[in-house]
Amino acid sequence: MRVAAIVVAAGRGERLGHALPKAFVPLRGRSLLAHAVAALAASDRVDAVLPVLPPGMVAPRDSAHAKLLPAVPGGERRQDSVAAGLAALPDSVEWVAVHDAARALVRTDAVTRVIDAAIRCGAALLAVPARDTIKRVRAGAVAETPPRDECYAAQTPQVFRAALLREALEKASAEGRTGTDCAELVEALGVRVEVVPGDLDNLKITDPDDLAWAERALEARR
Ligand code: C5P
Repeated sequence: MRVAAIVVAAGRGERLGHALPKAFVPLRGRSLLAHAVAALAASDRVDAVLPVLPPGMVAPRDSAHAKLLPAVPGGERRQDSVAAGLAALPDSVEWVAVHDAARALVRTDAVTRVIDAAIRCGAALLAVPARDTIKRVRAGAVAETPPRDECYAAQTPQVFRAALLREALEKASAEGRTGTDCAELVEALGVRVEVVPGDLDNLKITDPDDLAWAERALEARR
């Protein structure tokens, strides 16, 4: 097994306002997790997909796939869930693609492109150019306006050599740092992370409006 995808789905997803954990919420008749697993597993670069779920949950039946590994329980923070997934992968795994289950609409061709970029460069993520001007805000006031052409919104999958991701997680843990994505932790090692153009519809489904938007986006793809 050379390339594994870890799908992190252990967040509470409270903003979605649903009784089920977010990864189990249906989107056009299939759970968000099932959509994400299917898109990842359809890439011929991906050998296996490992879901990281809220403790005590088992993967929804509709996510079943020949490439699916038994789920493992996640941790308190996203990076703890990534670490739990990484620890459960076989030693033979060289490359790890970390993906948010909440990005159920990821496209398989983007998965393949970002994995190929990481294999070429060591680390890569999907990102889209910022459409809005981005402000760094402190205490309710603008502190800084970075040039818009340098601003991108990071998406997943983010793909790393397994040993590099392990080192990044260990360093963050030793230094008590929390990152909102894996790349942030890898960047802290001084490693170059290649940016691969993503798709605007690879949205992180966060609130009920996003779910309605994703329904329409899926319908438009048919
Ligand atoms: O809320 P956040 O943007 O960090 O969530 C991104 C992804 O990470 C979601 O798919 C969520 O389920 C996952 N996550 C996790 N474990 C946590 C927090 C978030 O697997 N403790």
